[in-house]
Amino acid sequence: MSDEKALYNVYRSYLTTGSLQKFMNDVKTQGIQEDDPRMQRLTIIEKEAEDEKLDFDTFAKCMNPLSSLLKKVTECQFIIPDFQSFTKTIEEIYWMCKGNTSGENSTYIPQLSEVPDYFGVSMCTIDGQRYSIGDTKVPFSIQSCSKPLSYAIALEYLTSEVVHQYVGQEPSGRMFNEMVLDHNNKPHNPMINAGAIVIASLLYTLIERDSESMDKKLNLIKSWMERAAGNEYFNVDESSFLAEREIADRNFALGYFMREKKVFPEKANLLECLDFFFQLNSIQTTAEAFSVVASTLANGGVCPLTNEKIFSTETCRDVLSLMHSCGLYDYSGKFAFNVGLPAKSGVSGVVMLTIPNLAGICCYSPQLDEHGNSVRGIQFCEELLKVYAMHPYDNLRHSITRKSVNRGSDWFL
Ligand code: GLU
Repeated sequence: MSDEKALYNVYRSYLTTGSLQKFMNDVKTQGIQEDDPRMQRLTIIEKEAEDEKLDFDTFAKCMNPLSSLLKKVTECQFIIPDFQSFTKTIEEIYWMCKGNTSGENSTYIPQLSEVPDYFGVSMCTIDGQRYSIGDTKVPFSIQSCSKPLSYAIALEYLTSEVVHQYVGQEPSGRMFNEMVLDHNNKPHNPMINAGAIVIASLLYTLIERDSESMDKKLNLIKSWMERAAGNEYFNVDESSFLAEREIADRNFALGYFMREKKVFPEKANLLECLDFFFQLNSIQTTAEAFSVVASTLANGGVCPLTNEKIFSTETCRDVLSLMHSCGLYDYSGKFAFNVGLPAKSGVSGVVMLTIPNLAGICCYSPQLDEHGNSVRGIQFCEELLKVYAMHPYDNLRHSITRKSVNRGSDWFL
């Protein structure tokens, strides 16, 4: 019997024994949300079943995005099998971090300084199991978290060889907005302002040359982000953009400095490229949507909700490598030491954490530490790693203090 036929029989038996509700509950217990695009297919199947028209052909037609989900539910094969216990841990850590009220909002624009004391954490596994707690539907500007995504999109259009003719791969060891280039007169990496301004210039100048206008280019980039988020919320916050541009003396200075050093591609219009960079920083999303983007990066570029291939696996590897070494301002080394996972933060208080081949997490809390990272965002990641052995250099076989997230806590005994 084919896999599909076997699933059809399983599903039929759910229907005929009147246990569809049980199926729905099983799915929910595993963290699959009702609005998951894969679940929409169920509605068609259910309708046909009600009308007694559910034959194998109809079933097979609806199955494409649904089949792996059904298989996982019926065979308990999700990447985090004990999802309830995992989310309980997340909840406990959330409340522990919520009590930490230290740090200050970013003060350079009112759009950041006047934000209340929000705190939200969302996660999405590579199977689309989701959990959110706190202020996860509040929109915020992604700020520096646009950097890994712009870089990813540039890699997709231009290849790594071309992109890295313009920008390096080394941590700079300096402030994120410092006026400094490497010994080849290139920005050190795409995760700091110099590198991200150059990446913005590549996107603005070298790709899709027939859609020249700022709006068209911005919509193009936004649509990449939306697709990586399974089509969840993204928007451009015009007021943040205008405020960013108003206060951007250092970024303008950085731009002129780099133009003098011939860092930009030929024909790049500096002022337009800078505007484009400010726009990218001002793109808005929510913790819920951004956790899906992080999960797409963790999943080799395939969006876990839609199964759409957004980025190549090589692009994801390149992006995650630089997030790992350069993603958290001047705390990147210590974070790599404590947590060992790729992450990127932004001055709005967002921290995007990817756990390759497992999940993406987005923390949002606007109070920042002295490095410009969200206090609670960093604390959350570090506490999570104290419980679960997810650091790449953790050892499960001989550890008695940390749990394996997908093999059970007593796997090594
Ligand atoms: N918008 C900030 C700037 O250009 C950077 C954003 C960030 O680091 O999150 O100075």
